[in-house]
Amino acid sequence: MAQKVRISSSSLAERVIATFVASLADPHAPLHCARCIQACIVTLTQNTYGLENLAVLCASHQDVLKTCMNFLTAPRSSEEITRLKSSMSACHCDTSDPCVREMHTADVKSDEPSFATLVNMLIVTVHNAVQPALEAGNVHEVAQNAGIAAQEGRSVPWPATPKDLLPYGPESMIALGAMIDVSPHPIHLGLLGSIMDICLETTIPPFLASPVLSGHVVGIGRIPQIAWIAMTSFPERPSAYTPLDCLADIGRLTLVCQVLLALGNKSQLVQFSNQAEEQNGQGDGVDICSDMLKLLEEVAPAIKPSTPKVRADVARCTAVFANLGARLHLFLAHPFDHKEYHPHILRGSLQRAQQEGNPHAHGL
Ligand SMILES: [Zn+2]
Repeated sequence: MAQKVRISSSSLAERVIATFVASLADPHAPLHCARCIQACIVTLTQNTYGLENLAVLCASHQDVLKTCMNFLTAPRSSEEITRLKSSMSACHCDTSDPCVREMHTADVKSDEPSFATLVNMLIVTVHNAVQPALEAGNVHEVAQNAGIAAQEGRSVPWPATPKDLLPYGPESMIALGAMIDVSPHPIHLGLLGSIMDICLETTIPPFLASPVLSGHVVGIGRIPQIAWIAMTSFPERPSAYTPLDCLADIGRLTLVCQVLLALGNKSQLVQFSNQAEEQNGQGDGVDICSDMLKLLEEVAPAIKPSTPKVRADVARCTAVFANLGARLHLFLAHPFDHKEYHPHILRGSLQRAQQEGNPHAHGL
């Protein structure tokens, strides 16, 4: 028997789900304002039963997650996004429906409901929903998963196929980039990396074709760096951000870099690094790898207790940034500047150059 979504609201969960799905059924013309839709998602996934509900939504109410993904990845012009920002911020809703009316007074977990906050909440929702599939690593085994689910009398949980994450095909990546651009946040890189890790090669060309994504990898990557500097410069100020949060945000950046490293060829990696600098102006791919290696050396000893998982996460992040940074440093023939670049990057670049007999490495 399908599990039920439980909510702490006077409306039935099914009505909140129906309101949410109907509201975003046409991703280009939402029926309700940002506040109403935000209240639906908070009611379903963030109030008392949030975490339990997310698993139930993945198993039995996939229309909610499909609706989120369709909305986040529908191809849109920048004019359409500007129009949605303005039209969804004002309320012109028909509140004759009791559930719609209730959503206008329900808790929305933010001071200012807006298009940007709604986009952020939708991204957080799908990011959290996709993590079990990412960890299981079996979304590609579509037929096998369907067979097992049929034997057990249940449906395959969302995302059941890579297409669930890229509903409009690889171009969905470009549209998702435009949504990330609305209000960039580390968790957005987490979703981007999760999609790239599950959908593999097909995601690299649209990632590079996006006018913003390379830049956001570097730009959003700076967020934990800035938060860490603020936290350590003013230790007397209370901070909700912890060293473990910092490692989690670095891990989200690592996931994107790990996929680029595994699947990108030389010219694609060079394109990523150059575009990152052009789009964002906060350094190229080598700079962010070098800065993340330096940051990890400060953050890792501050995490107490240092569990085997923490140590494994630090080691994985370090390996990815050292490897990607070294490759990019060599490909781009950057100088062997010990003040500028982390020693792991310079050592790796030199080793690779010597293996390849590259004249770039001679005379050092
Ligand atoms: Zn409204």
